[in-house]
Amino acid sequence: MSLDFNALAVKYDTPLYIYNFDYISSQYEALKVAFGGQKSLINYAVKANSNLSVISHLATQGAGADCVSIGEVRRALKAGVSRYKIIFSGVGKSDSEIKEALESDILLINLESEAEMKRVELIAIELGIEARISVRVNPNIDPKTHPYISTGLHDNKFGVEIDMAKRMYIYAKKSSNLNPVGIHFHIGSQLTQLEPISEACEIVADLAKTLIALGVEIKFFDVGGGLGVVYKDESTISVNDYAQMIKEKTKKLDVTILCEPGRYMVANSGYFLTKVLYEKQTDSKRFVIVDGAMNDLLRPSLYDAYHNIEAVGVDGEKSPADVVGPVCESGDFLGKDVELPPLEHNDLLVVHSAGAYGFSMSSNYNTRNRVAEIALMGGCDRIIRARESFEDQIRLEVAYLQ
Ligand SMILES: *Cc1c(COP(=O)(O)O)cnc(C)c1O
Repeated sequence: MSLDFNALAVKYDTPLYIYNFDYISSQYEALKVAFGGQKSLINYAVKANSNLSVISHLATQGAGADCVSIGEVRRALKAGVSRYKIIFSGVGKSDSEIKEALESDILLINLESEAEMKRVELIAIELGIEARISVRVNPNIDPKTHPYISTGLHDNKFGVEIDMAKRMYIYAKKSSNLNPVGIHFHIGSQLTQLEPISEACEIVADLAKTLIALGVEIKFFDVGGGLGVVYKDESTISVNDYAQMIKEKTKKLDVTILCEPGRYMVANSGYFLTKVLYEKQTDSKRFVIVDGAMNDLLRPSLYDAYHNIEAVGVDGEKSPADVVGPVCESGDFLGKDVELPPLEHNDLLVVHSAGAYGFSMSSNYNTRNRVAEIALMGGCDRIIRARESFEDQIRLEVAYLQ
């Protein structure tokens, strides 16, 4: 697809997030096809990009949602995801979140500790209902990814160890207000090797077999998310190998596979478009100062993540430059040593692979308005989130002015 970034910048201004919805459909379809012949449900991990239009676009194709706050559950419901396709994960669910999730009658709640199980049971007793639950097992596997997005080691805060999981299932089976229907793991994000997921899958499938032998009726086998994508030159996991491996490991179990991809679905659908404000040359460095910043796209600052950055329609001899924003932090950069031609005021830069953990991680730091988001579908562009205004930002503040 050739994109007219200049026309989009004129129409919507910058900074701007642009998502190719046709790409999102094709990612969903590829994964669904890979799971062919197996009962499966793809629960899109809403936190990757929680725009209502993104969720509803996936919902119309049959996707469910994996949510990590009650706000995300509300988004999923509002976007038209069937409640029986919504799961609620996360290490720290509050009482009110648990209550609302149970009242909403979603597919299941993923438990991440014994204490949380007891809270869910208490709240289910108060409501006089049976809570469908699943336990997140921490298989102690090194996913070989960035430490900030690694979640499947015992050092991480996520999930419970195998023995604890077993005790929780035995407890839940006896409880009249808990119904253990699923088992879950999620070992990390941006995974580029199949081996760690395959090891985790094996461990958790073995546990599922043991539990089934003990009379726990596990119906959902949740393999988490984490499928990596290409930002630069990573070799990624083929979805066919991935699905094949999961089918293989679970073939003796009569389960529906749940899968929670976030990044895979949206990362490479997205572009972050930003405008050059100034060039600045110091003794040792060339800086390109742009109107987009770390508050709009945090990944470079937070994880030292790489995003391919290109100048739009500008020629000339390239030299390395740091692409930085106006925020008052030295950590405010979108790219380092980016090969760029000489640039002028108002030239456009496009930051690739910005569809996941981009807007959803953005903030108002430095009292910057959060940017607009647009969707491209079948050659048309439309706005899916208006640009924030200063008034939007201060709306909830109370100023005791003299
Ligand atoms: C973040 C998260 C995901 C999605 O991870 P991706 O790397 O974006 O696929 C899935 N499941 C859980 C429980 C998560 O916390």
